Amino acid sequence: MDETARHRFEELKAGGQLPSPRGVALAVMEVVRHPEAKIRDIARLVQTDPAMTGRILRYANTGRAGSRPIVSLGQAITFLGLYRVRQIALGFSLIDEYRSGACRAFDYERYWGASLATAIAAQSLAAIAQTPPDESFTCGLLAGIGRLALATVFPHAYAELLEQHAGPERLLAAEQQRFGLDHAELSAEMVASWGVPAVFVQAVRHHEAPYADPSDPGTRARTLTAVLHFASRVGLLLNPGGDGREIDAAQVFDAAAQVGIDRDEVKPLLERITKDWAAWMKELALHAAPSVPIGELLEAASRPVAANGDQALAQMRVALLVSDANCRARLAALLDGLKVSYAVHADAGEIDAAAQRAPQAVFVDIGRPERLRELESLVAAGLPVVVVMPPAAESDFPRLMEMGAMDYLVGDFSEAALIARLMSAHRLAALRSAIRSERESAINASRQWAQANRRLLQEALTDPLTQLPNRRYGLDRYAEEWAIAVANDLPIACLMLDIDHFKQVNDRHGHDVGDRVLHQLARTLEGGCRRSDVLFRYGGEEFCCVCPGTGMAEAEHLAQRLLDAVRAVRCGREDKPFRVTLSIGVAVRSEQTRQPAELIAVADKALYLAKEGGRDRIVSR
Ligand code: GH3
Ligand code: MG
Ligand code: MG
Repeated sequence: MDETARHRFEELKAGGQLPSPRGVALAVMEVVRHPEAKIRDIARLVQTDPAMTGRILRYANTGRAGSRPIVSLGQAITFLGLYRVRQIALGFSLIDEYRSGACRAFDYERYWGASLATAIAAQSLAAIAQTPPDESFTCGLLAGIGRLALATVFPHAYAELLEQHAGPERLLAAEQQRFGLDHAELSAEMVASWGVPAVFVQAVRHHEAPYADPSDPGTRARTLTAVLHFASRVGLLLNPGGDGREIDAAQVFDAAAQVGIDRDEVKPLLERITKDWAAWMKELALHAAPSVPIGELLEAASRPVAANGDQALAQMRVALLVSDANCRARLAALLDGLKVSYAVHADAGEIDAAAQRAPQAVFVDIGRPERLRELESLVAAGLPVVVVMPPAAESDFPRLMEMGAMDYLVGDFSEAALIARLMSAHRLAALRSAIRSERESAINASRQWAQANRRLLQEALTDPLTQLPNRRYGLDRYAEEWAIAVANDLPIACLMLDIDHFKQVNDRHGHDVGDRVLHQLARTLEGGCRRSDVLFRYGGEEFCCVCPGTGMAEAEHLAQRLLDAVRAVRCGREDKPFRVTLSIGVAVRSEQTRQPAELIAVADKALYLAKEGGRDRIVSR
């Protein structure tokens, strides 16, 4: 942990101006802290704010297509868990409280637009880093909160800084210099102070510059940073402009490759994200940037430049956008003589359509005022523009160059001058294409590497037989949930589940059938758990279910539901079905259980008593 950043954060916090939740969200945060917090109390509190109620219901229902919709707030809170509801309420309340402010160069709505898109992207990619989707959402939403904080605490200084510096990397350095910490560090400190687990705090800290993340490549922590990095690029792509932080699609592809997402997968993924995002923007009454189809956004930065290894001018493709008839005729005659193929266009709109031909040079004369605007659109489309200008206008060229023109020809140019321009256009195209293919192969390599990593990570954390998280991953997640529970004074329950007489199943029906039963029961148990529960294979025919934010009564209720669900399963062959039962030990965190392992030991003891008591039952301790 960076002590300087921590210290600086404490100073800012002491100033009392950092963004913080108000109203219902603040009250929810307080109530949830209370050890006796009841879902009913939270529901009653949230209900006093109809907008918040609607959002939590909507949130609980996202990604549940096909399942029965959650209609009551209590049900939504049970399903999400107290801690998640708290974090979600926190995020939404910040959006409400800080949708405008005094920093003139900070576009508050765009900021939230980008944050929301980041949240949705991070949530939809949660599986890549094997993280819970709700935490990923909150983290995505709050990953940039340090920017809002700087804009809130230092509106004038931050505006000055934003007006001077474009590009995320330079911005970080400038913030560091001016404020003693950058927005990523500040975001990390803020989310940490709101009880977000350490692995997420680290991801927030490093998501702007993932290469500087000290955690090892291929680990869950590093993968999470890369996911958050990609998600935040998506946020910027969907919300261009705003505070001058621009991004092009190439950076999005790069970031996608870092998490093992193929180039072809990016567009459909972004389309799904955009759809969810637009719905959320509407729900939160935020104005989106004028919507540009995802295809176009990506296209703009990935227009193919002709890969032309051949040096001959005869293979060049040229476009003419020249109004002056004499000038046009002269160019045409010279190009004919050089056997360069060219197309003549009336305006830039036509060239745009012809851009598929990827001309290596577009000759434009600037006799007409509308040509300047056209020049801009040609440059924006990535086309190399050669300006044809009268000798008197030569001094204008630096200005045209600033607009993105590549080269110029003056007055009654000679054939040699034209050839020189064509050659340099040709060289530039070849160079661009070489750079592009080099970049693509680098991206390819990193994508393959990331995909391999992703597979390895998945394999390392998943039990192959049941497809549930394995013990190693389960215990890791358990430790995270434990830390949340302790830091927030929340209850946490642990269920140990063991199949009764499983040895007999193997003996009577064979080991293969036994394997299938394990797989089948894993699905049944999974279906009975709530989103916030962490179910994993603990060992042979034993499972463990960690239930964050859950007290004894609720844990027993869940255990009963699982017991009943398993009783109802028909195992084995269609013509010779049989049933199996479970024994479950239940325990909740108390004064006596100071460590996660101690709670498991108590649940295990309860399980033993359930076996002794005759099996197919629940014992709680
Ligand atoms: P109890 O009710 O006391 O739990 O009886 P049990 O037979 O389930 O318990 P015991 O611990 O005696 O035996 C566990 C059995 O589970 C023995 C082992 O062969 C079987 N088992 C463990 N892992 C697997 C597996 O991956 N596949 C199969 N088919 N069987 C397994
Ligand atoms: Mg056993
Ligand atoms: Mg058993």
